[in-house]
Amino acid sequence: MIAIALARKPILLIADEPTAAMETTNQGQIFRLLASLNQLKNMGILLISHDLDNITNWTHTITVMYSGQFVEAGTTEQIFKKPLHPYTRALVDSSPSANFHLPAKSRLMALPGSIPILQHLPIGCRLGPRCPRAQQACVKAPSATNFHGHKVSCHFPLTPLKPLRKGIKGVSKHD
Ligand code: SF4
Repeated sequence: MIAIALARKPILLIADEPTAAMETTNQGQIFRLLASLNQLKNMGILLISHDLDNITNWTHTITVMYSGQFVEAGTTEQIFKKPLHPYTRALVDSSPSANFHLPAKSRLMALPGSIPILQHLPIGCRLGPRCPRAQQACVKAPSATNFHGHKVSCHFPLTPLKPLRKGIKGVSKHD
């Protein structure tokens, strides 16, 4: 599949879970191949993945989505070291590599509940029913706020922001 995608020498490669169900050694080979295409052939790589550890190692910028809504975007360092959104915080805290100090058989952090089905999406912020910071205002979908290039869509972000501008173009409330 990857060879077919590369045959036309695209300027942008969309890699949707390119290493799903692969062993760790094969995953490394695929990510090294993508990195060399990016650096040597000037090919943009849009990586779609749930694999947080690999994302940290192989990306420059990250956009986090939840149930089709924009959540947060920034450099990989901003997202993992200073997440502003409750969902991003929960993602980072649930990663095994962030919990290496836990004793064996400990439970990893997880938000209560599960992802809503598309036919019954919550109104407003879609994380609302599972969010530990949810308040009444969250029944209205938050718009994105740009904080020195670190963008977040939340009425009550983890760090109070001084917005540079509100309502970023191209980010729809209902994406
Ligand atoms: S807008 Fe409200 S419900 Fe949504 S993530 Fe922020 S605090 Fe939680």
